[in-house]
Amino acid sequence: MLPLDPQADIGRRAWVPCPNCADHRRCTTCQEGRACHAHWRYLLSNTGSLLHLQCPSCRHVWSHESHFGATRHGE
Ligand SMILES: [Zn+2]
Ligand SMILES: [Zn+2]
Repeated sequence: MLPLDPQADIGRRAWVPCPNCADHRRCTTCQEGRACHAHWRYLLSNTGSLLHLQCPSCRHVWSHESHFGATRHGE
């Protein structure tokens, strides 16, 4: 398991499903697209609309294209 990134700050969180552990799948709050108190990711940094995230559960690090400013697609 990767160490927690030194940039990880609990004050900067993002609600993006983790592609590694997908811990949102059995969660009703996440399924409804609401800000879940249990399933959130550290927002390490961002390059424009590309977010660099780390999952606090499995420590997976990945990039997510947020299409910031565009209408959010329902999933
Ligand atoms: Zn994860
Ligand atoms: Zn959840």
